[in-house]
Amino acid sequence: MGYTEKIEEALVAIVGAGPGNPDLITVLGRKLIENADAVIYAGSLVSAEHLKFMKEGAVSYNSSKINLDEVMETIKEHTGKNEKVVRLHTGDPSIYGAIKEQMDRMDEMGITYAVVPGVSSFSASCAQLKEEFTLPDVSQTVILTRMKGRTGVPETEDLEKLASYKASMSIFLSVGMIEDVAEKLKKGYGSDEVPCAVVYKATWEDEKIIRCTLKDLAEEVKEAGIKMTAQILVGWFLDSEYSLSKLYDKEFTTGYRKGTKSE
Ligand code: SAH
Repeated sequence: MGYTEKIEEALVAIVGAGPGNPDLITVLGRKLIENADAVIYAGSLVSAEHLKFMKEGAVSYNSSKINLDEVMETIKEHTGKNEKVVRLHTGDPSIYGAIKEQMDRMDEMGITYAVVPGVSSFSASCAQLKEEFTLPDVSQTVILTRMKGRTGVPETEDLEKLASYKASMSIFLSVGMIEDVAEKLKKGYGSDEVPCAVVYKATWEDEKIIRCTLKDLAEEVKEAGIKMTAQILVGWFLDSEYSLSKLYDKEFTTGYRKGTKSE
């Protein structure tokens, strides 16, 4: 059985909806929505546009209005009738998706499920900035993380510690604590000149983009009134003047990009 058939065979598909714009779901994700009898979507961050593709008679549930037990009850009810369920998560389900607890419950209940990846907001934000996280000689590592909030973060992953690697960073779930974030980043990177960007609701109609350095980060975010649903991207990869001149330099001297891709 091929990849697609295996996914389609499962009663429940946990699907990444992408960062916002409904065109950014995968072809398979869309197909699963079209064939589903029920779609449970996280209404706070998943566009209701996706529901337009549901077949007639299929039902949808907004999971931001119900708790985990109720989500599981809904899944049980539909799969009990041998109906197909799509659990639609924002971005990619494997990042801050809280899918593990749902999968564990489905294992306990003997319900078959599959996971379909999605475009995460960290990559969508970088795309909207027209940047690249991994520039040769600048950084070859991307750190995806968050500030400690209601959900704890292991001490070894404290933001200041991670920033001290001076790698490219994409910070989720933290824009509401922007002052603390900026302080930790400044200490970790050891400079307030590090370029950064905040992308609010990447790919949505009301997307907003801020570009600045760590020095002005907190002030800029406050001025723009951004309190949630934003990515904070930090690192020297955002210093496009530097990367552009390097690229130009390589092309100019060699005529083609020999040697820039050693992988
Ligand atoms: N699984 C999701 C992340 C869910 S956690 C993903 O892969 O993107 C929710 C956090 O993701 C938000 O607090 C915000 O930091 C980020 N986020 C989600 N959608 C976003 C978007 N369209 N633009 C910017 N950040 C977004």
